[in-house]
Amino acid sequence: MPNPSYRPSTQPRPIASQGHPCQGVLVICRPGFERDAAGELELAADRAGLDGDVGGEPGSGIAHLTLMSPCPLVELTERFPLERLVFARHRLFWFDRLDGLSEGDRGTPLVAAMTQSGFAVSSTLLGTPDSDAAKPLSGFCRRFAAPFERLLDKTNLLRPKKAHLPQLQVVFDSPTTAWMTLVTPGDGSPWPMGLPRLRMPAGAPSRSTLKLAEAFMTLLTPTEQEQLLRPGRKAVDLGAAPGGWSWQLAYRGLHVTAIDNGPVAPSVLATGLVEHLRADGFTWRPKRPVDWMVCDMVDQPARVAQLISDWIIGGHCKRAIFNLKLPMKRRLEEVLRCRALIEGRLKEKGPVDLRFKQLYHDREEITGYITLRQ
Ligand code: SAM
Repeated sequence: MPNPSYRPSTQPRPIASQGHPCQGVLVICRPGFERDAAGELELAADRAGLDGDVGGEPGSGIAHLTLMSPCPLVELTERFPLERLVFARHRLFWFDRLDGLSEGDRGTPLVAAMTQSGFAVSSTLLGTPDSDAAKPLSGFCRRFAAPFERLLDKTNLLRPKKAHLPQLQVVFDSPTTAWMTLVTPGDGSPWPMGLPRLRMPAGAPSRSTLKLAEAFMTLLTPTEQEQLLRPGRKAVDLGAAPGGWSWQLAYRGLHVTAIDNGPVAPSVLATGLVEHLRADGFTWRPKRPVDWMVCDMVDQPARVAQLISDWIIGGHCKRAIFNLKLPMKRRLEEVLRCRALIEGRLKEKGPVDLRFKQLYHDREEITGYITLRQ
């Protein structure tokens, strides 16, 4: 179990610029999905051959793994890649858990914990998960960032010029508790605490346009985004109305066939790049193969998974982004079932690149990306 209370340091350890042994893994997830995120951590630990206990307070937006024996940061970073964790928006490695923090002085115990750890870091980030209990602390995190760095600077544990050193990320999950965590440079979510703050673009008909924008940024590498989303590419949008996803594709210059029996917003049609067809998204197929298929139809996840497999097997699209609406219970099991279903059906086609993530803009759902490996 995590350290139950903060113990002041008596004997500072020697500075450990290498190694950084951590007690376990911390993931930030959508509040309400802690069980699923913890279940996934357990599976990942099993795969990595590591023993430990998982947990996650319902509604906290956090799930954690406590290892039986500490493990070096470098090794953990390799064994728990963020892209393999569907329910994790962000993934960090914790080395201490502070309890009983007082509002008047959170800095002293934080610095003491760092001194006790002996870890040198290149930079710091203070943040909170997305939970109701923790969100009110985001103002404090912003205000305290610079004073905290000044305090840490005095210990010689903050070394901004050593970019190879990990970043210290302190996650406040309540006014009195915090997780002390580390992240290897360039690893983890590109957004602080895994929260993308995307602006709603003018002209887009619905906020769900941000979901597809986030899916591109999260599920594709920057090179893939550049190569695969070039103007002139052809896309089909199944379950398109009112047109947020079609608008996002058109905004990038793609030509879109939008399939939905419902109306598509005039601003989407006004792009001149979207053709709307009233048809059933489960049976309609394009006459010629397209580069992209995207699908946001609300239906049984296994039915959508079958549909996606049909499109890829039939060569109707090169790649697809799709949403799987999850049931209320046994959500991780459903994700694993859909993954197995798709991989099983595509076996004959060769290796498949199948990525899943519960995005910040996803609610009771996850988003998938699929293509055949070249
Ligand atoms: N992605 C859209 C956007 O960004 O505006 C929102 C899609 S909304 C969540 C789901 C849409 O799927 C609805 O407009 C619904 O009419 C459509 N839909 C559901 N079943 C369908 C089917 N069998 N064929 C075509 N459209 C379907």
